[in-house]
Amino acid sequence: MRAQSHKMTVNIDEHASHLMQLKAFFNELDEARITIEKLPREKREQYQLQAINGTLEHIWNNNAFYRAALEEAGFKQPSIDNLGQLASVPLLKKDVIRGDKTKLLCVDPKEIGQVHLTSGTSGKPIYTSYTLADQYVYDLLPKYLELFPETDSDIAAIALPYEFALPGLGFQRLFQFAFGTAILSLGKGGYMAPIDKSLELMKEYQATVLVTTPSYAALLAEESERFGIELGRDICLRRIVLTGEGCSSTFRQRLEKWWGCEVSFFYGSTECGVIAVECKQHNGYHVMDGHVKVEIIDPRTEAPLGYHDIGEIVVTTLLREGMPMVRYRSGDIGYLQKSQCSCGITMDVLHLRGRMENMLTLDGNEYSPFFIEHFLMEIPEVSLWYHFIMSKGRLTIEVEPFRTTLTDEQLEAKVRKHMSDRLGIDCNVEIKRSLPRTFGKANRIYMQ
Ligand SMILES: [Zn+2]
Repeated sequence: MRAQSHKMTVNIDEHASHLMQLKAFFNELDEARITIEKLPREKREQYQLQAINGTLEHIWNNNAFYRAALEEAGFKQPSIDNLGQLASVPLLKKDVIRGDKTKLLCVDPKEIGQVHLTSGTSGKPIYTSYTLADQYVYDLLPKYLELFPETDSDIAAIALPYEFALPGLGFQRLFQFAFGTAILSLGKGGYMAPIDKSLELMKEYQATVLVTTPSYAALLAEESERFGIELGRDICLRRIVLTGEGCSSTFRQRLEKWWGCEVSFFYGSTECGVIAVECKQHNGYHVMDGHVKVEIIDPRTEAPLGYHDIGEIVVTTLLREGMPMVRYRSGDIGYLQKSQCSCGITMDVLHLRGRMENMLTLDGNEYSPFFIEHFLMEIPEVSLWYHFIMSKGRLTIEVEPFRTTLTDEQLEAKVRKHMSDRLGIDCNVEIKRSLPRTFGKANRIYMQ
């Protein structure tokens, strides 16, 4: 098995924390030359229970807010006997920590190595503080060499924001320190990062991996034509990793076709870091059990849900000392499935359904926008840019034509019929010539 190559040696022995006790588990895996990905469930759950209890003790001893919440929930000591009991630990809501820098801090402020902010699209930002050990020791401790085949022969172009939020720097650290991969830090939308320069750099250095958002992968592909750069000839990627915005599998497949390489989804957040990633089967995301414990709850009753039940994704970080997130309500919707994946990875599979506030109600049924997008993207004459506009319970789809000889009237009729046939929904369709492109998060859903 390929070893993980830390180019900079960060020695966990030199850093003391409540996470020390987990070192033995990862050392054993290294000695057996296996990763957590294919471990039998019981072994992984033993580790997770130990990590959760370590985290509970850490927050109990070092954070007044967490301790008060646990005591109020009836905890006399900071531990649980089995993973099922995690449901008795209080949930953490975004509103409680929004705009508050210290509420969840569990270390002396002098220990903070990096502060990240969420984009704050819905209210005040959430501040997350990472210690240096969080960033360079614990975040890199669990290895997922099946899910990340990258090595020091790869060149990874990272087209994600480096400002404020975690994604750019998080992927940079992962690729540099875990795989020894060289990085092209393209960023996304910064004044140093115009699209032509980004494409040129990828061409010059023969990037093999691109990490970016679905909409930016579409924009780069589109703009490459304008700048005379041919994908598959001038830039020959082996893989694109998509994160930051969700999208449907048909959108993903269209990007695969355009770029001529595999495209995989990655799910993470600035608050919780890595959460789940797609394997080669592209049938859901394997939960990164070394870093997080994922639960699904009913967002209304807060009761835990079983496999296959759709609800809100709740995340507990397992390897954090600065600001552990314990039963954090992500606001994202999805469901879990026991892994029966032919890739051999035994970690549960998460299916994402998007943000709670973006669910569309049509004819009394709730739809994930990815679900509707999936059918829209089946139409090859439609571009990757579209808007879903909800007004008075009716859906209007704005789309752009893509490499087609159909007239606008013909395309409009085709889209309307396709959506009605495939989805059973009548919608308005408007053909647009220039839907706005963005360097930021693509906004495709409008509620009027
Ligand atoms: Zn798999």
